[in-house]
Amino acid sequence: MKPRVSLDLAGIAESLKSGAIKSVYVLTGAGASTGAGIPDFRSPGGMYDSLRPELITATKAERKRMRRDPINVVMKDMFFQNQFPYLEVRRPFILGTQQQQWKATLSHWFMRFLEEEALLKRVFTQNIDGLDYQTGISKELVTNVHGSLARVSCEGCGEEMPFDDFCAKVRTNVKDIYKTDPSAPAESSNINCPRCNRPLVKPNTVLFGSSLPTEFFEQTADLEQADLLIVAGTSLVVSPANAVVQMVPRDCVRLIVNKETVGQDLGIQYGKGATRDVWAGEISCDEAFLELIKLLGWQDKVRKIRHLLPESNQAMTKDL
Ligand SMILES: [Zn+2]
Repeated sequence: MKPRVSLDLAGIAESLKSGAIKSVYVLTGAGASTGAGIPDFRSPGGMYDSLRPELITATKAERKRMRRDPINVVMKDMFFQNQFPYLEVRRPFILGTQQQQWKATLSHWFMRFLEEEALLKRVFTQNIDGLDYQTGISKELVTNVHGSLARVSCEGCGEEMPFDDFCAKVRTNVKDIYKTDPSAPAESSNINCPRCNRPLVKPNTVLFGSSLPTEFFEQTADLEQADLLIVAGTSLVVSPANAVVQMVPRDCVRLIVNKETVGQDLGIQYGKGATRDVWAGEISCDEAFLELIKLLGWQDKVRKIRHLLPESNQAMTKDL
């Protein structure tokens, strides 16, 4: 039986300091990147909701499909039929990633700090923004469950293309439906694969209707060693990533960092019924990790990288 942890942030910090918790796994979702100001694809008001299919290079029937459900932009069958909905909708996100327009948040840095303390075993991220890597976290500790925007390959033959080469093509071949880039072409043209010559080159984010990268299934195998699972900024509704909460041992502490309570249907318990689950409360991911940073005495780590944080996080940490 593991030493009893008091079921709050202070208890978790105490157990991390004492060595009672040694193996930490993290599952992140969109909420971990919110502080970076990244366009959100899913939430009300996000990029899909403001989608204007009439501006996208597509047939009448394809536009009708997108109007019915904007998720069609990232469906596999749509992409194989017509690549422009995906490329035109994602253009600013792809180019913004190259220009590091968005900065890693305190939530991402907290994972890096866990690695520095030899506590981090793995981060499973459902985010495609690649912000984790900005912190210098070891690449082999990050699993991109839904792929990553910053890696590019051909959806047809798998041939990889350097991200910068791809971005140069996006700039010259893909029109800007958001009308923010005057240098963008007026019409879109294909980006062909250098190997198979089909126009199927794209960031290797996982399209709806495709199977997930096999690494997810391989890398969940050691979750049985987990002492602590941190679930941050995800509503736990997308499988199979949400199954991570059930793959940890029965005595593994699960910390839920999300403004709303989530995962009750997966067995996460809140309030008096909780025996090993801790909810950080109605605060943002960055606020919760800042709280943990203070409890752990890791303020110095933040001071060193404060200038790299997004503005929202700089404001939060000015009195640190
Ligand atoms: Zn190819």
